[in-house]
Amino acid sequence: MARAKNVAEKKQPLNPKTTKFEFGGFFGALFLSLFLPVFTVFINLQLTPDAKFSTDPFYYLNPCRSAGIWIPYLCWFGGLAVFDIILPGKTMFGTLLRDDTKLKYKINGISNSFLLILILGLRWQITEGAMPELVFLYEHHVELNIISVLFAFYLATYCYLKSFIYIGKEPILALGGNSSNVIYDWFIGRELNPRIGCFDIKLFCELRPGMLLWLLINLSCLHHNYVVVNQFQSVNDALLLINILQGFYIFDGVLNEEGLLTMMDIATDGFGFMLSFGDLTFVPFTFCLQARFLSVNANKLGQNKVIFITSLMALGYYIFHSANKQKSDFKQGKLPNLKSIQTKRGTKLLCDSWWGMSQHINYMGDWLISLSWCLTTWFVTPLTYHYSAYFAILLFHRQKRDEEKCSEKYGDDWVTYQKKVPYKIIPYVY
Ligand code: NDP
Repeated sequence: MARAKNVAEKKQPLNPKTTKFEFGGFFGALFLSLFLPVFTVFINLQLTPDAKFSTDPFYYLNPCRSAGIWIPYLCWFGGLAVFDIILPGKTMFGTLLRDDTKLKYKINGISNSFLLILILGLRWQITEGAMPELVFLYEHHVELNIISVLFAFYLATYCYLKSFIYIGKEPILALGGNSSNVIYDWFIGRELNPRIGCFDIKLFCELRPGMLLWLLINLSCLHHNYVVVNQFQSVNDALLLINILQGFYIFDGVLNEEGLLTMMDIATDGFGFMLSFGDLTFVPFTFCLQARFLSVNANKLGQNKVIFITSLMALGYYIFHSANKQKSDFKQGKLPNLKSIQTKRGTKLLCDSWWGMSQHINYMGDWLISLSWCLTTWFVTPLTYHYSAYFAILLFHRQKRDEEKCSEKYGDDWVTYQKKVPYKIIPYVY
């Protein structure tokens, strides 16, 4: 009823055609879909001590035909999906959709994380530290990386095809993914929230299979260093540090998953190859590069560098976390004394405290975190710094996309806001 009323009153189609293209349109989407997977495998091969290089792609693809690699990967993905469905959690609603409805989400990051820690602890006890699963992960890293790309490809294709097949209610498509260009829509994501029953594919992929695999890959590096390299005697301090810092960040993300419901990825982006590849391959197989490097290159940091890196991460986390929390609290009406601009849409734009310093001060905090991780390899290799460089580009691009969205959404009020808060990310710099 509400949906019919909305569509009738505003006389707007539920799924308008996409006319604005991002990432360079069709050619950009095609280029990124081919380049990023090759880049990911290439950079991982650089950090694999006994890697052999070949110009024949089948040299890398043939080992990935083995059921011995596919079965563990599918069990990982499927097992987490089953846990996600059956484990308890609180129910929350997403942002208001174009048909005036809100989707229900089950938020159960806590129970999922608890179960994973329990299983890891039990495996350590039972196998007396041998942990064959971590050894498998470490030794088949590149094959698993390639399989994750293939799986991301299948998942994006499944979601793209699924967006055309429905009974009854037409699915809501992403505003950016309904151009009728097959490659572009497949890349950007056509359907906004692809689901199988109540299982939300996008939210699941954002925080479970990729993020938790990243944690396990880091642990597999730590395990390799402790058991194989140092024969249960010691562990490299830089490797231990990166495991602690990134482990903290991963659990923080998984435990605070409701924060994701209002983020661009969930609220406005469709689920296509861009997100499936990002979630399933890019996050686990490139964010782990510091740990992969440190697992075979002893890089003793010493106390001073450890303190410096930890402080940088703490500062970044403080800015990122408190700025995000402040915006969220403000939106819930908890901080009425902060200065803001009343918009014609009815909502307010905060322009005080953290949000008076720059329009995306939270991005700056997040970037400092990324830099602290890269510094665990100190200045021994430039390869591990790709993360900070990539993240700077991602955040810059995201800021541009958000600016476009807000300027369309708020019109003159956004102009007033920009006059009050002129800096985009870094106060007094940009
Ligand atoms: P923001 O948290 O900055 O949110 C932007 C949205 O918030 C805008 O579209 C607008 O939405 C609202 N908003 C913006 N400014 C104001 C204001 N002054 N007052 C009130 N509302 C405002 O960006 P993201 O959602 O992109 O990012 C969230 C977090 O996730 C960030 O900390 C970011 O660093 C992190 N992130 C991490 C990634 C990773 O890979 N580690 C990747 C991407 C993001 P509206 O008006 O519709 O409410």
